[in-house]
This record gives sequence, structure tokens and C-alpha cells, in this order.
Amino acid sequence: MDTVELLQDLVRMPSINPPGDGEGQVAERLRDELVAGGLSAEMVTSPAGRPSLIARVPGPDDRPPLVLLSHTDVVPVEPDRWRHDPFGGERLDGEVWGRGTLDMKGIAVMHAAGALALAAGEREPTREVIVVAVADEEAGGDEGAGWLVRAHPERVGFRDGRPAPEVLGEGGFGLSGILPRAIMPIVTGEKAPLRFRARATGTSGHGSMPPDDQAIRRMGRFVESVSGPGRARIHPVVRAQFAVLAEAAEGRQARLFRLLAGPAGDLAVHAVAHRLRDRAGVIGHLLADTITPTEVHAGYKNNVVPGLAEASFDARLLPDSDADDVLGSVRRLGRRQGIEVEETARAGGPTSGRGALFRLLEEVSRKLTEAPLPTASLTPGVTDLRFFRARGATAYGWAPLVLGPELLATFHGTDERIPVSGFLAACEAMREVVVRAAS
Ligand SMILES: [Zn+2]
Repeated sequence: MDTVELLQDLVRMPSINPPGDGEGQVAERLRDELVAGGLSAEMVTSPAGRPSLIARVPGPDDRPPLVLLSHTDVVPVEPDRWRHDPFGGERLDGEVWGRGTLDMKGIAVMHAAGALALAAGEREPTREVIVVAVADEEAGGDEGAGWLVRAHPERVGFRDGRPAPEVLGEGGFGLSGILPRAIMPIVTGEKAPLRFRARATGTSGHGSMPPDDQAIRRMGRFVESVSGPGRARIHPVVRAQFAVLAEAAEGRQARLFRLLAGPAGDLAVHAVAHRLRDRAGVIGHLLADTITPTEVHAGYKNNVVPGLAEASFDARLLPDSDADDVLGSVRRLGRRQGIEVEETARAGGPTSGRGALFRLLEEVSRKLTEAPLPTASLTPGVTDLRFFRARGATAYGWAPLVLGPELLATFHGTDERIPVSGFLAACEAMREVVVRAAS
């Protein structure tokens, strides 16, 4: 299999979600490649008609299956802002261009390379390896990973009497060009979304004779009082990450990271959380739960005081925060201000521990060009791995490719592309991981 050509082919199959047309084409192309290499494969289709691919290298049942999880859909593009065709799959100056090269058709190809290497190898697999390429990640996963884990858990590695699967998925590219040394995150957990809606009522009336008790003003006070980052604190995974960042940094920066990793970190973080949120990128958003108003609705005419105002909130909680506690204090605050609060959604799962597979990922990460320092890490956003973690799987976000800030910014943006040399090395790293983890 030529991995670069396969990636180019997949990019040329636009699978923008919504609506996700083209997901099936991507899944079938991957299926054909895997079946040609000796894997058994099936397409499973959600009730709404969205196809996902499941392919296997069989192996004994006494060890957890290894699941390689990717998604076939991509986010939309603004084609006028791209320098090259986002669905051309062109190879230019040592890079493959196009939507999905990073997120995450490139990683799907790495997974395929890993499974094919295992199937072609001489040693008998010591556990089952399942390649899962799902629909609908970019719109929430209800027709892809979420549905599969709920409706067909046995097909994606969960079976009674057998240890829960270990899963590799998206979440962490290596990062170079910010600190003197590159780092390679191995994502062990995600912040958990908690969504709620608030409803304020008041006296309606005419703008010329405003009543005292106005729904919009009541809601305004509530929005202000409830929103923002909560108390800053350092989650154990973030603490370990600060220790690695201290190694990767120099001078004042290294001292700050060392301070945050040490026993004085819990106190120090209050003073610096604001600055880190502003300047330190992702990790700055991992220092507190956040509550953010995302929709506000009220009123219908410029001279009418409405009797109702509604707002929706997107809260993101650290993996060890208690959603009931957070919601409880939001509700208490609401009651005092005459606001009704209704939960609309929650998700999340526990952080995965660090066993033998984690140590293998660390070891293989260190061998990549630029010798990045591996570090356990959390992400503020969500991936499909949350469905697996919530059901008891150990899941890591790991993409063995080190990128500079310029390329990382193309993720969900314009001019998304992947360097061919890094991609080939990443395929090789994934082969090593799959073969060593499963034989
Ligand atoms: Zn993705």
C-alpha cells in the first residue's frame, strides 16, 4: 500500500459534515485497502443511514482488544481562502494538501498502515486489533462513535468476560517551535461538556413606561454572575504536564512551569492562571472549569419590554469536577435571582491511566524527528474517545507527528496540509506501536 497515494485519494472524497455525504466512499476505500491486506471488514450503518467501517485482525480474547479509532468526515471549507484546492489532494513541495490531511484522514491511514503491518507480520497477534473509521465525529458523533458504542458495543471491542478495549484516537499532535524543545502530548482525558439553559421572566410593558422588574436585565445580571472561569486549580495530569514543559523550556519560563509542577503550584496558579489563559494556548484552558454563555434570546420589538429572556450556556469541566456540584451552585444562584435553570446535555468520561501501552507510546514518541518530550495531557475540546472512556475503555489521543504553530493553525482552518516526510515517519511509528502492542 502506498500510504501517500491512499491519503491523496481520501482527501479527494469530500466528506463535509454536515451532511456527511462522502463518508461512505472514504470508509469503502479504507475497507478495500484493509481487505486486500487480509483483514475482515464490515460496514455498519446507523439508523439515519451513516456508514462506519469496522475491520479486524483476529487475536486471543484474554487481552483487551486494541481499537484504532478515526473518523471519515471533515469540517467545511471556505474555498476562496485556500491557496490550493481543499479537495485536490495535491502533493506540492513535500506536502499533501487538503481538508482532512490532519483531521483526520491522515491518521486513519496511519492506523491502516499499523493494522496491515500486523496482519502481514510473521508473529501471531496476541490480541485482537480493530480498525474503526466512523461517520459524524465533527457534528457530535451521534451517528458514528456514539451510536456504535451504545448500539453495538461488542463490535467495537466491548464484550462481557473480556477486558475493556484500549483505544488510540485523535487529540494530540506534537508541537515544536514554541519552546526550545518539542513536546508530544499523549491525551489521557478531556474536559467534559455540561450544557444548560436559563429562563428569566419579568413584567412586560411599553418602552416608554418601563416596569421595575425586567426579564432582560434580570438575565443580564445572571449571565454576568455565573459566567467565566471557576477557581483555578491544577489537575494531576496538568501538573505532570507542567513538569515536562519545564524540561522543554528555558530560563524564566522553565522556572514558572517548575513552580506550577511543584508543591507551591496550587497557590501560584491563582496568580498566573489569567496570564496562562491569555498566552499559553491550550494548557491555559485546563486550569479551571469554565461557564460560557453562548446564546441569548429575548425581545421582539424595539419599544416593547419583553416578559421573557432565555440564555444557553456551554460549561466545560475538568475530568475530576462533579457536574452535579457545578449545576447545583448554578441553580442556587439562579433561585436567588428568580431564574430557572434546566440541564440540556452532559458528557464526559474518566481520565485514562498510564499502563504498558502508554509507556510504549512514550518510547516511540521519543524516537520521532526533533526527539519530542512525551507528556500525558488533557484537551479542552471533545473527541469520539469520550464515548469509549465513558464505557470503561483506556483511550489515548496520539498522532505521532510534530508540527509547528503554522501547520497546527490549519486544523479546522484554511490551507490544511501535512508534510510527507513527517507523515511517512508517523505511519512507521504507528506500525511499530501496533505490532509491538499486539504481537
Ligand atoms: Zn477530528
